[in-house]
Amino acid sequence: MPSSISTLFAFVFGTIFGSFLNVLLWRLPEGKGIGGRSMCRSCGHTLAWYDLVPIASFLILSGKCRYCRKPISPRYPVVEAVTGTVLALSFVFAQPPADPGTMIVSIYVLLVFISLFFFDSLYMILPDALVIPAIGIVGLYDLVFVADPRAFFISALLLAGFFAILYTVSRGRWLGFGDVKFAALIGLVFGYPVGLLVVVLGIWIGAAIGVALLISGRAGRGYALPFGAFLSAAAIFFTIFQHEATYFQQFFR
Ligand SMILES: [Zn+2]
Repeated sequence: MPSSISTLFAFVFGTIFGSFLNVLLWRLPEGKGIGGRSMCRSCGHTLAWYDLVPIASFLILSGKCRYCRKPISPRYPVVEAVTGTVLALSFVFAQPPADPGTMIVSIYVLLVFISLFFFDSLYMILPDALVIPAIGIVGLYDLVFVADPRAFFISALLLAGFFAILYTVSRGRWLGFGDVKFAALIGLVFGYPVGLLVVVLGIWIGAAIGVALLISGRAGRGYALPFGAFLSAAAIFFTIFQHEATYFQQFFR
């Protein structure tokens, strides 16, 4: 078990990334760059550093802008707290990576999954700006660091191929083309059989939520669900509990 200091460090690092992710979540869909000072979305006042401390500023300001007193979106502290918690959990439960390179790539991949989860939940998009570089970086990692990378590339091709068929057959109604690219990333990250397990868990989560929405009458047929968010949640689960997941691998040999 890692020390509580390093777990706290992982949490704080996660909330700081979450704060950056909040900037991406507002600005990427609006086609804006990520440069420039942060400002209040209601009054446009430039925010000081003490207005931008993850989670703490929102609590101290009781969720209201210091300058115009309009409410601040709860999205800010939620994204920060979720990102911090996922990183802390991965620190506690995931196996320590073998070397610093693997550790950096693992943290990067986890941050990409968390980002995709929020982008798809909020906007139903899986931005290429996140998915394509991740495919490149993880593909390169597999080639350089994995003794036999074939299983990872074959998994990527098969999962993306399977999703491409679903995408074509449903004419994009069951899933978007972003999910096809995301499936390739899942294959490159997890290989076989965990990549397949991630997709199966993602489909289960989606089916459970879809049925719950239908029964509760909150959504009719044809209501689009953020399938990429369910895939992201499954990928985050298997990243955190990769050690426990190896238990299931014996059934796929
Ligand atoms: Zn304001």
